[in-house]
Amino acid sequence: MLELSEEVRALRAGVQRFLEAEVEPRSRWIDEEDRIPPELLEKARELGLFGLTVPECYGGVGLDVIGKCALEEEFGRSNYGFATLIGNHTGISCSGIVEHGTEAQRAKYLPRMASGEWIACFCLTEAQAGSDPSGMRASAVKRGDRWILNGEKIYITNAPEAYVFTVMAVTAESKGVKGISAFIVERDFPGLAVGRNEKKMGMHGAHAATVTFTDCEVPAENLLGEEGLGYIQALRALTRGRVTLAARCLGMMERLLGLSVGYAKLREQGGRRIADHQAIQWMLADMALALDASRLLVYRAAEMLNRGERATKEAAMAKLFTTEALNKAADSAVQIHGGMGYMREAGIERFYRDARITRIYEGTSEIQRVIIARELLREQ
Ligand SMILES: Cc1cc2nc3c(=O)[nH]c(=O)nc-3n(C[C@H](O)[C@H](O)[C@H](O)COP(=O)(O)OP(=O)(O)OC[C@H]3O[C@@H](n4cnc5c(N)ncnc54)[C@H](O)[C@@H]3O)c2cc1C
Repeated sequence: MLELSEEVRALRAGVQRFLEAEVEPRSRWIDEEDRIPPELLEKARELGLFGLTVPECYGGVGLDVIGKCALEEEFGRSNYGFATLIGNHTGISCSGIVEHGTEAQRAKYLPRMASGEWIACFCLTEAQAGSDPSGMRASAVKRGDRWILNGEKIYITNAPEAYVFTVMAVTAESKGVKGISAFIVERDFPGLAVGRNEKKMGMHGAHAATVTFTDCEVPAENLLGEEGLGYIQALRALTRGRVTLAARCLGMMERLLGLSVGYAKLREQGGRRIADHQAIQWMLADMALALDASRLLVYRAAEMLNRGERATKEAAMAKLFTTEALNKAADSAVQIHGGMGYMREAGIERFYRDARITRIYEGTSEIQRVIIARELLREQ
């Protein structure tokens, strides 16, 4: 199995201690209130959690994909909303500037993103352009030394607290996806407005909102990467994001399996432990099998990305298999816990609700299958 570096193991152990001591006791509160206590975010800042993927020279930890996956597993075992806020910031929302930013952009944004002073978000989806973001209508027109941005992005995670927005917009309509560019937009730029925090099934504590750009003025130097490469940049960020999101699902599955085994051994009905029933044993066996298979897929894709390989198909496989396995495991965990599994107090149903989003965002399960098939047909 995969050997993590000593540095990553130490960091992971520290994060585990923090999550157990600080986040876990507040998990139910976060879920019910749909917010994260400010003192918890402050502690996360002090621990450097906002800078996990920012290079060390900009004040971050500089984790590679495997390191980020190892940390995501730990976050997944705890509170999904907290994991999402940090994971989205350190994932799809930071990676564009880390990978494609100019030296001036990196120097301006990354240190304050690493410290958590500036939270970031990633703005791709629009009302008519979800699974197919190439249908986006948000546009940016160059006027002198500024880009004028107009359009609306929906369901943007972290938008309510974000200061740095990576926004994809059409700069040359006739060029199709090669006419889409990416921009770094600050919350204070005139013309940017963030809507209300959407009420969601789960993922409470992490917020999602609509972001509207009305003649929003973006300085020319805030074009991210080259003009026309925004779509490719977004796909690259999503490939990596799918693998690290799948890693978070591993942690969730591991936690659900541990809770289910523990409960099955404790709970007795008709004079027997429920763990002695084959019906329960098979559910546990299937959960364990799916967890191990998912882990192999996740770290295969992570290793490929670390080696600089494309891994589009492998990332889609990891995301599809792991998120589907997690949803099945969450259902089994509720079933094994019986009525208790349905009750808020036990904390199992929270995983069930949180798991559902993983099959939808960063590309639905159907879209992962489309990607896998497309890559197969291209390869052979
Ligand atoms: C809580 C939350 C947070 C989010 N955060 C962000 C964020 O931070 N940034 C961001 O940009 N976006 C974000 N999203 C958007 C998310 O990525 C999209 O919701 C997702 O990609 C699906 O798009 P859609 O909702 O428009 O569904 P649609 O694309 O309308 O899909 C509806 C159904 O049709 C299926 N379908 C569509 N096309 C095909 C096809 N070609 N073949 C087969 N089936 C197909 C889908 O799989 C799905 O089942 C978030 C969404 C949610 C719910």
